[in-house]
Amino acid sequence: MNLPFPKDNHKRKFQCFVCGQNYYDFEEYKKHILDNHEEGREFVICPLPRCGAPVRDLRMHYKAKHPTEKSVPKTGQMKAIIWKDQSNKKDGALKQQKPKFREGYLMSVKNGGKEMHYRSGMECDVYECLESLKEVTGYEVEPFAVQYSFQGEIHHYNPDLKVYFDDGRVEIWEIKPANQTSLPRNNAKWTACNQYCQQRGYNFMVLTEVGMGKLKQQIKEQNLNG
Ligand SMILES: [Zn+2]
Ligand SMILES: [Zn+2]
Repeated sequence: MNLPFPKDNHKRKFQCFVCGQNYYDFEEYKKHILDNHEEGREFVICPLPRCGAPVRDLRMHYKAKHPTEKSVPKTGQMKAIIWKDQSNKKDGALKQQKPKFREGYLMSVKNGGKEMHYRSGMECDVYECLESLKEVTGYEVEPFAVQYSFQGEIHHYNPDLKVYFDDGRVEIWEIKPANQTSLPRNNAKWTACNQYCQQRGYNFMVLTEVGMGKLKQQIKEQNLNG
């Protein structure tokens, strides 16, 4: 009789949809994503209390895992912003599929021609505003790391920008779409950062679409007044 040897691939495998790492244990898989990837940007969390799994697309997840639920909640973010394809993975390289965000570099006149890295269209827009605002003398991207604790573990957080003004004021900015501002992890990061900034005399703020609108308005007024 020819009994097949048990093969690894007969076991249920969970592959991280962000980086491709494999796990045999669902709880380990879940913890990996929560600890190593960014909520809102790389995953969203299933809002059903009995589930709470990190997923890429809530609508798809509900269809597959919770087909008896009448409807997917309509508030909050439905999909991760970054979408990577694991199907053609070779040598650890991931194929990026139609990213829904812009990434690149902006040449900064205010920073002596330095190339400033942005990871989203919103970040790029903010850099452009900073270049136009007369009261801004310079800015740094990811200027420092702040330690924060979340669910009993220590992590590090890099705020997006340090902005220098001509009156000597220094502000620390985090750029985030409004639908990601109430995530518990973000609140832990920002509370720690706010404290760090207060000790150094910096003003910390989270810039959402509303703040962006105000910045653009300020530039318009500045340009009208010469
Ligand atoms: Zn991963
Ligand atoms: Zn779920």
